[in-house]
Amino acid sequence: MKLAVFNDCRLGVVRQNQVHDVTAALPAHLEAWPELRMSWLIRHWPTLEAEINRLADTTPGVPVESVTLQSVNPAARHVFAAPANYRKHVGELGERSIVKKGRSAREQGFFLKAPASMTGTSGTIVLPKGSSRRFDHEPELAVIIGKGGRNIPRSEGMQHVFGYACLIDATMRIEKDVAEEERSMRKSFATFTPVGPWVVTHDEVSDPENLDIKLWVNDELRQSGNTRELIVGIAELIELISSVLPIEPGDIIATGTPEGVGQFLPGDVVRMEIDGVGALSMPVTEADTVAPRAF
Ligand code: MN
Repeated sequence: MKLAVFNDCRLGVVRQNQVHDVTAALPAHLEAWPELRMSWLIRHWPTLEAEINRLADTTPGVPVESVTLQSVNPAARHVFAAPANYRKHVGELGERSIVKKGRSAREQGFFLKAPASMTGTSGTIVLPKGSSRRFDHEPELAVIIGKGGRNIPRSEGMQHVFGYACLIDATMRIEKDVAEEERSMRKSFATFTPVGPWVVTHDEVSDPENLDIKLWVNDELRQSGNTRELIVGIAELIELISSVLPIEPGDIIATGTPEGVGQFLPGDVVRMEIDGVGALSMPVTEADTVAPRAF
């Protein structure tokens, strides 16, 4: 099943490029906080799935192009992210890398992106106004957590996956001879984490560790890899993260980017695609105003 959050955080099932509104499957009190709907759906999935299918069967669809797609879970409590998790990406940033001596995600663990940096794929990626810094694209497979838990061994990790989505980990790079800022801040500007276009439930992705992942800027192919090249796989990421703190239904894990990371600029259009998961295409723009603390 493909599950989308659209317009005013309504819930939809996507079939043949049509969105079927299934919001009525959820308790009415969520009207007071519609951003919570996807987290609620994931938390209560075993008891909601049949009703969601029934509503999708009986509710007329509207074209995907006619709705505004929000991030796949606007209320995710955590956006975990793996650094340096594709062998050929490790080291390619040279002096712009804060990772020394070729350490991968296995040694470094994870970092956090601010959940409020997420945006839907109908939106735009907004760079700070007038910045001379370099801003980069990193296409990644996003894992959406289903069942939460603590201290999950990797042998059980995949039982905790609800589904998958495309994610762009937009990043402000450090500069040589400039004091480096924290990674979480450089990757948490508003709109720097597009996640979408929707969640594809795990049963529709037979092998999530054998998926082609590609990114284009203005139709130029910049990155092309396959999730089989992940250094730390999905189950081991879940083991690693849940060894530190509990993972929760609706949490998101950005699994890392393949080689070919590069810069995008205002006016560019960035497009990414993961086989069997989806595709997104978003303009890159510049903020209207200069922030009081400019970067
Ligand atoms: Mn990344």
